[in-house]
Parts: sequence; C-alpha cells; structure tokens
Amino acid sequence: MMVLTKKMIEIRSLLQTIGQSEALILPSIVVIGSQSSGKSSVLEAIVGHEFLPKGSNMVTRRPIELTLVNTPDSMAEYGEFPALGLGKITDFSSIQRTLTELNLAVPDTECVSDDPIQLTISSPHVPDLSLIDLPGYIQVVGQGQPLELKQKISDLCDKYIQAPNIILAISAADVDLANSTALRASRRVDPRGERTIGVVTKMDLVDPRRGYDILTDQKYPLRLGYVGVVCKAPQSVGLFKKGSANITSAIVKNEHAYFSAHPVEFGPENGLNTGTTTLRKKLMQVLEKTMASSLQHTSDAIHQELEEATYEFKVQYNDRPLSAESYLAESLDAFKHSFKAFAEDFGRPQVREILKDELDQRVLDLLAARYWNKPIEGLEAPVAEPSVLADLPKADADSLYWHRKLDASTSAITKLGIGRLATTVVANAIQANVDRLVTQSTFSHHPFARQTITEASSGILNERFYSTSDQVENCIKPFKFEIDVEDSEWARGRDNITRVLKRELVACESAHKVVEDSVGGRKKLKDVMNFVDRARKNEIQVDGNGTGGAGGFSAALIKKGQEAVFLRDRADIIKMRLMAVKSKQCASLKNKYYCPEVFLDVVASKLTQTAVLFLNVELLSEFYYNFPRELDTRLGRHLSDDEVQRFAREDPKVRAHLEVIRRKELLELVLEKMESLRALEGRDKRREAAG
Ligand code: GDP
Repeated sequence: MMVLTKKMIEIRSLLQTIGQSEALILPSIVVIGSQSSGKSSVLEAIVGHEFLPKGSNMVTRRPIELTLVNTPDSMAEYGEFPALGLGKITDFSSIQRTLTELNLAVPDTECVSDDPIQLTISSPHVPDLSLIDLPGYIQVVGQGQPLELKQKISDLCDKYIQAPNIILAISAADVDLANSTALRASRRVDPRGERTIGVVTKMDLVDPRRGYDILTDQKYPLRLGYVGVVCKAPQSVGLFKKGSANITSAIVKNEHAYFSAHPVEFGPENGLNTGTTTLRKKLMQVLEKTMASSLQHTSDAIHQELEEATYEFKVQYNDRPLSAESYLAESLDAFKHSFKAFAEDFGRPQVREILKDELDQRVLDLLAARYWNKPIEGLEAPVAEPSVLADLPKADADSLYWHRKLDASTSAITKLGIGRLATTVVANAIQANVDRLVTQSTFSHHPFARQTITEASSGILNERFYSTSDQVENCIKPFKFEIDVEDSEWARGRDNITRVLKRELVACESAHKVVEDSVGGRKKLKDVMNFVDRARKNEIQVDGNGTGGAGGFSAALIKKGQEAVFLRDRADIIKMRLMAVKSKQCASLKNKYYCPEVFLDVVASKLTQTAVLFLNVELLSEFYYNFPRELDTRLGRHLSDDEVQRFAREDPKVRAHLEVIRRKELLELVLEKMESLRALEGRDKRREAAG
C-alpha cells in the first residue's frame, strides 16, 4: 500500500504553509531533459492532460513543483495554484494558459528564474506523486537570449538534482544516449546510478532493434533502470476538445500497440521496462521507498525546527499563549473597560460644565454685540449715536428702552436653537472621548478596528441626534416666554459671570501679549496702536491700501495694531463691566437692567440645567447602554475568522507572536503525523520479516 507518499505529500503542504526551510524539503522526483526530448509529453501522459506550456520560445522558465493527488472517491479532475488563490481549475487549457503567463512573466533578459511555481493536480486517475519540472537543457543560445543562459539552466537543474531527490532523466531514442545532457548531468551527481530513472522517449522513431540496444545499454547502469516509452498521443486525440478528455488511455493503447508489435525485442521474456504504465508504477514505488528512507531524517529535521520554535516562543514571548481571537477579545474587553471608566466620570455634572461653557461664550458674544458696542472696528468712523455702554449705568428699571434691550437679548439666547446646540456639543464631546480612548488602546494600531469603533459611536449618536435635540428644545420652551429668577439664582449668577468675565479678561490680555511679541515688543506695538487710534479719530489720513502716510507702517503692521486696539478696548470694557457686576447695584435682582451680564448668565444656567436633564436621559444613558453592545456586534459576532486573523496581524508584534505559535503548533502536528507514519512503517517491516 502506497500510503506513505500520500501522507508525506500532505505533510509537505502543511509545511509549505509555514515556509519550508531547506532541511524540511521532502524528496521529489526531478524531471530533467533537453529541449524537445519529450519531457512535457511524459509528464502529460502521467497526468492524463495537456497542461504544460508549449511553444518554441523557452516556455518553461521557472521550476514547476507539481503535486499529484490521487482522489479515489471523486471523479473530479482539477488543478490548483496554492500561491495564487485562484481556486479549483477544471479546464486544463486554462491551467496551461496560467502556467504560460507565469513563465513568460520572467523577462527575456533573464530567461530563467529559480522561483518555483506550485501546482497541485487532483484526480482519481493520477498517482500520488510529487514532481518538479525544470526548464529543458538547450544546446545553442537563441537570438535575444543571454549568452550565459545555457549555464543558468544547467545551474538551476543542478540545484534540484541533489539527494535525496530522484532524478527522472529524459532522453530521446533518436539521439545518441552518450550525448544525452540529462544523463550526463545526473551522472555527475549520482555516479553510481542509485537514484536516477532513465526514460527513453520516442521509441517509435528508431528501429526496434536499436531501441532494444538502447534500453539494455550498460554504459551508465542505473539501479532503478531505464524505461522506454512512446508518449505521442495518437492524432485522433487531438480532435477532442482540448483540456477536457483524459489522454492517458489513448497514449497507453497506442504505446501498447507499438511494443506488442515487436515481441522479439520488447516481449516479456526480455525483461525490459516499457510503457507509461510501467513508468508510473515505478515512480510511485521509488518515491514511496525514498520517502520511507527519508522519514528518519525528516522527522529529525522537524524536531530540530520545533525546538527552535519552542525556544523562540519561550525567550521572546515568555510562553505566553495568544490567538487572534483571544487577542481581539482581550483588546475589546480592555477597551470596554476604559469606556466604562470614562462613562462613570462623564455624567451630568460634566455635561453641564461643557454646555454651560458653550453658552457662556454665547452670552459674551451677545453682550458684546448688544451692550458693549463701543465702536471698536478699527479705522471706521465712530458711531454717531451715544454708546449703550456709556448710558448703561443709568439703565432705568422703568425705561422701555432697557426692557426691550434685555428682553431681546434674553430671547436671542433662548431661541438660539439650544436643542441642536446642546446635542451637538455633547455628541462631539462623546465622540472626541471615544477617539481618545481608541488612541490610548491597542486598537490604535488597527485601522480597521479604529474605523469600526468610530462608526459604531457616530452611528448611535447620529441615530439619537434628532429626537434628543427635539426633546431638549421642547423642554426649554417655557423659558422662551417667561423667566422667573430667584434671589439665590441671582447671587449664583453674579458669582458665575464674575468668573467668566475674569477668564475672558485673562484671555484678552494674553492675546494682546501674543500680538505684542509678534510685532517685536511693547514699544513698537504702542506706536502702531497710537497711529491706529489717531486714524480712528480722523486725526490722520490712511490711504486706500491701508498703509499710513506719515506713520510709514506696513499694512500687516497696521492690521496687528488694529487687533491690539480691539483687544485693549475689549479688556477695558470687561474691566469696567467687572467693576459694575461687583458693585452694590448688581447685588440685587431689582437692578437687572443695569446688570445684563448677571441676568443673561442666570438664563444660560437655567437653560443648561434643563437641557442636561434630557441630554442625560436621551443621549448619555442611551449611548452608554448601546455602545458596548454595538462594539460586541461589530467587532465580535460579525467578524469572520479571516477578518479576525487579518485584524490581529495588522500589528506586526502580534503577527510575529502568532506566527511563532502557529509554526510551533503546526510542527507539533506534523511531528505527530510523522511518528505515526514511522510506527506504521515499522509494523509493515516486521510483518514483511515475519512473512
Ligand atoms: P519537451 O520540449 O522535452 O517538453 O518535448 P515535447 O514533449 O514538447 O516533445 C517534443 C516533440 O516530440 C513534440 O512534437 C512531441 O509530439 C514529440 N514527441 C514526444 N514524445 C514522442 C514520442 O514518444 N514519439 C514521437 N513520435 N514523438 C514524440
């Protein structure tokens, strides 16, 4: 029973997936021969299909590692290129095309490459074999081919015909065997003829007597012998659709007809090896034997390789187990954990703070636009009507003017679109925090996961957006009509706006400092500001393009000066208003028209408070509940095994770690298989001895 070759071929393909090292390469049958010696015809007769590249222009440029897999339980015949991932190809002319393309991809200037093409053919009609087809030896270098091509081919073949490989040396009967390049090459590496099978093709082209002489020639005796074949398929076969019918039986029939027509030379009593069928059997037996004798060596090599992998695993990874799944699960857990910690820290008070900050800014803008409207736009002429700011201290509680002014300002805030604003601000804050958590997590090395998480959070936030902003808008609605303020609220508002104004003052002053530094010092800035001030008072003229005549300042400098003047004026106003807010007058709600800052702050606080209640329920709680579940779905259940693998391997460190483990596990598996094979071999041997 030829189980060994089959098993060993299985083992070989396992080993191929982890990248075979030299020591792990299992014995193969290497096919060598001159161009046109009939090498392809022999291989195709064994496979039963035309599948090799044909043509005169050096069509085999790369080694083809051909694995034949016998599939007794299935009628299907197909080929696969494991490295290309093209799937099963049942049309052999398509296999031929692919091989031709792969070969012709090697540029003419190089002509041969030692990068092998792997091809597996499965069929119930093929034996389990592993063959390597090499470029044919050439006698003369063709036009446009490199001069050293002859040597290159010969070197490539030499690399493959080393032990323990078996050499299938193809020679044509119509060429003197003494001139066979294949036999000469094999004699160099296998002088005692222990692992060479001589194949003599085109037996039909010579006189039967001459054929007999060739097969019995003892000049280079081979222990595995010579086999004479006629591999030319009869013409009628060519009429079949190319790539479909199996040609083995037609060839065998034709061949049989030839040899049995010459019983004197090729009859059984002469004991000569003839025919493709004989060759197939011989190949199987020889490979099986070679595999058996290489068992020990191979399992030693695998042992060694396994030890190295185990050592690497220990030293580099501390024996720490890891799988793509566990890596993903751990990363996800850690991320959810950090999210939970964030969620516990990001509640109503935090939302209130960011929302209030936003509204404070709006209040400041509003005050600047409606109350603090001292002319500040640089070089424009001063406004003719009296500044509101100048009259504000006289704001009379009964004056319609001041009533209207405060009412309009209040409704500008309440009708700001608080629903959308608040929802946007909070949703942005959540998204920014999620992004921050991702950056701090292991997912930062994984673009796919990063994107998935971002999509998960923005998905939930977008989904909640409209209903949340509607809800918020609805519940602040009463404030659009009436705002009741209590004394305690007023006191808090006063404290609060004092803080806000102080902060704004600091911001103004530091912005002023930045401008100062950018123009090169206080003195210089002062000069420019002086100029801007005077221009504003129409004391001097500024020409059309903004450059000052007498000042001689550049347009850019004047712009800086205007900026500084603006900041100075704003700081002055804020200082003044701070004093007003701190004054006794503003201590009481009664003077609210004189203290719009305090009143508007109270309004902003009320809006914030109410909005936060609903934001908390509609947005925060929903998000905190759904987000981890969404992550579980998108990064857990929804991912295929391949995606999980791809994910984990995005991180080079993780990939290396996984590689070592996979290598180790695979080698362990292979070793186990090898051990059981050896046990089987041992049993067979004992049986043989006993029988
Ligand atoms: P390769 O270049 O060594 O692969 O040779 P091929 O297999 O392409 O064969 C070269 C030529 O010899 C082709 O025209 C084949 O049809 C022909 N040929 C191959 N084997 C035989 C054979 O046994 N008998 C005859 N008469 N022709 C053969």
